[in-house]
Amino acid sequence: MRDDFSKPYDPKDVEDKIYKIWEKSGYFNPDNLPLQKGSRSFCIIMPPPNANGSLHLGHAVFVALEDIMTRYQRMQGKRTLWLPGADHAGFETQVVFEKKLEKEGRNRFEITRNELYKETLEFTLKNKKTTEDQLKKLGASCDWSREKFTLDPDIIQIVYKTFKKLYDDGLVYRDARPVNWCAKHQTSLSDLEVKYEERKDPLYYIKYGPLILATVRLETKFGDTAVAVNPKDERYKEYIGKEIEIETVAGRAKIKVIADEYVDMKFGTGVVKITPAHDPDDFEIGRRHNLEIKEVIDKYGKLNEKAGQYAGMKIMEARAKIAEDMKAKGLIEKIDENYAHTVGHCYKCGNTIEPRVMPQWFVAVNKKGVKSGKILAKDAVAEVKKGKIKFVSKRFEKIFFHWMKNIRDWNISRQIVWGIRIPAWFHESQCTPRKNQEKNIGKCEQIIISDTEPKCEFCDSKFIQDTDVFDTWFSSGQWPFASLMANKSNDFKNFYPTSIMETGWDILFFWIARMIMLG
Ligand SMILES: [Zn+2]
Ligand SMILES: [Zn+2]
Ligand SMILES: [Zn+2]
Repeated sequence: MRDDFSKPYDPKDVEDKIYKIWEKSGYFNPDNLPLQKGSRSFCIIMPPPNANGSLHLGHAVFVALEDIMTRYQRMQGKRTLWLPGADHAGFETQVVFEKKLEKEGRNRFEITRNELYKETLEFTLKNKKTTEDQLKKLGASCDWSREKFTLDPDIIQIVYKTFKKLYDDGLVYRDARPVNWCAKHQTSLSDLEVKYEERKDPLYYIKYGPLILATVRLETKFGDTAVAVNPKDERYKEYIGKEIEIETVAGRAKIKVIADEYVDMKFGTGVVKITPAHDPDDFEIGRRHNLEIKEVIDKYGKLNEKAGQYAGMKIMEARAKIAEDMKAKGLIEKIDENYAHTVGHCYKCGNTIEPRVMPQWFVAVNKKGVKSGKILAKDAVAEVKKGKIKFVSKRFEKIFFHWMKNIRDWNISRQIVWGIRIPAWFHESQCTPRKNQEKNIGKCEQIIISDTEPKCEFCDSKFIQDTDVFDTWFSSGQWPFASLMANKSNDFKNFYPTSIMETGWDILFFWIARMIMLG
């Protein structure tokens, strides 16, 4: 190169120096801005990047957009805060960390809870440092003195308080309900974390005594506790309320015939088998008719001892074997080989989701709070309709309304280690009342929400903490108010509600809808 040309621009020579000057000025911090009296506030809470890897191009876009807005408002003389943060990202991080373990020939199930947490924390903090450096390299004019991490102790306390408040309000409850179970990741997932895809499977028309019914899932038949028909269906009137005797691969058995409006007369023969333990719709029918919940698939996605000779088999393997045995016994009337239906998959590993009934914590989104009178979903919709929250672009508002109309209770328990452990304590099974408290036996609270181990006033029983952690979106759904409350004493008053939340449309439901409900 000819040396009378100046060197090409090298950002390394220039940009770090400039960023240092900016930082030294202190003007990223609204407390240092030379403000006119009565100047208005402007605040953006940075969507906290997941601290499990480096930033990608999408992050660069959000930094550019939010930085432009922040700098513009700051120069307009507003008390401007752009609050940075980092997200522990629960299950997301666990998946990344698990892959790392796999490469090292290790497995998370061999590591103790504390060790796994410690290792994941180290991994996360290292990544957090990387993303912070990258944000600085991008020139982000955010106030680092206010940076927050979703696992900061003060944030955890706020998340605990919210949980307790919702619990006392009856808007958080524990119930054994069907959850979306991933057998690889060994955890339940929220409805949003399940990807539905159309698939073709054989639809078997099987003989159940005098009836014929259509099903894909032969392997769940060991968990059937009824067969159901529509009450309006003339064809089956005589069987309703009766027990029928059926021939099965495991010998003769009896099963009850129930009538429920939910049954679609046009599907198959209009008769369906009801497996409350492994199908969410069947579970609801089971509740309405008081049916037994008989689990036949275990947490590894294998049939359990209730499946007799098929115990230990994986689902698809068992299905094929059962089909074969039923054919041999003449129990299959016909097979529709190309039946198209939708099946849920884990959004991370693609494994088929198995509905299992497990006790979990749920946020009731359509129920009225006993104290507050609030209905989370309805009130969130009302705020948007009133114009207190505006969507740019407008078309996402419609999608939001549609989703909120169909929203179901939100499962916030995750069977993983990485995250905020749920502050619920369960009374041990044995109760030993204290001296002179014998008359109060049975009065003990069975569940106590507390950040430390609770003591009971009547007995000396131990309380055991829930081993599950919160869905990461339960804490990020509280991020705008939590990150401000956990900061300087006037921040919440000065900056909440914030001015703009800039984020990708792909987390409209994961994050935005939940922030509106919890905010
Ligand atoms: Zn999975
Ligand atoms: Zn007790
Ligand atoms: Zn007690």
